[in-house]
Amino acid sequence: MISFGPVPSRRLGKSLGVNNIPGEKKCTYSCIYCQVGVTKHYLSARESFYDPSVIFNEVNHHLEKLSVNDKPDYLTFVANGEPTLDINLGKSIIELKKLNIPIAVITNASLLYDPQVCSDLMQADWISVKIDTGSESIWKKLNRPLHNISFEAYLKGLDVFSKSFKGFLASETMLVRGVNDSTEDLNETTELIQSVAPSTAYISIPTRPPALSSVEPPSETVINEAYQIFSEKGIKCKLILGFEGTDTGFTGNAIDDIINICTVHPIREDTMLELLKKNNTDVFVLESLLFDGKIKKVSYNSKLFYIRQFRDDYFSKKK
Ligand code: SF4
Repeated sequence: MISFGPVPSRRLGKSLGVNNIPGEKKCTYSCIYCQVGVTKHYLSARESFYDPSVIFNEVNHHLEKLSVNDKPDYLTFVANGEPTLDINLGKSIIELKKLNIPIAVITNASLLYDPQVCSDLMQADWISVKIDTGSESIWKKLNRPLHNISFEAYLKGLDVFSKSFKGFLASETMLVRGVNDSTEDLNETTELIQSVAPSTAYISIPTRPPALSSVEPPSETVINEAYQIFSEKGIKCKLILGFEGTDTGFTGNAIDDIINICTVHPIREDTMLELLKKNNTDVFVLESLLFDGKIKKVSYNSKLFYIRQFRDDYFSKKK
């Protein structure tokens, strides 16, 4: 199956997935947190997988079967591995654009040093690049790149691409406890993200079984610290804590509002009180969410914040 979904995505709305890598995962990295397990097929040379017409026909057929309400907001290349390993990626994007639905690509950015990869991605409307760290030693430990991919080339690729891409550029940073989540690490990562200047920088955490069983999400306090450090440097950032709720404003349903907003970014205490007031409710709602473990109180620079309690069953059971 090349296409799947659409699945709800907080970043992209309704996203119809396009998997342009057939068979087992093929990647330039073997990230310790990868949900698809350890990389058995390391690749850095691009290959031809599907003919672009095959991808177009399958996606088109998939769309025909969907109800009007399920029409996707994006066709998203989110592959079983690294989508830019597909030498036909640019041609496939051009074919799919005939369907008049914006195209997104989620890439680990390791091949952006290749001008042809950059040129392929220029055809897309929305790109997310992986930036887990600004440190070469952490990059090697966390993303475990294939030996012939250098950190210098990765940085150069990010720089060149980010300066020339005209669509919506996002970055995604996965935080792993004890690996890239110290204050020093976060500052180093922030510096790299600042230089890339994405429209939005997403911070995520592992919430599914990772490739290495020792991988753990950072504490809520650290997630909040990361959010604050990014924000203080002028980076527009959002959290992705594994819950794809409806992105909402003030709906009149205080519980939904608090959970949905807390999942995207920490709510400062004063803002929280205002939110409760706007929803015509009181602190009882807040206390019940805290009591049920749905949200948590954390402090940063002497200020109190509320943040989504993110640990899912998998990590709770590991304890
Ligand atoms: S880049 Fe993505 S697919 Fe490749 S190993 Fe990392 S998480 Fe898995």
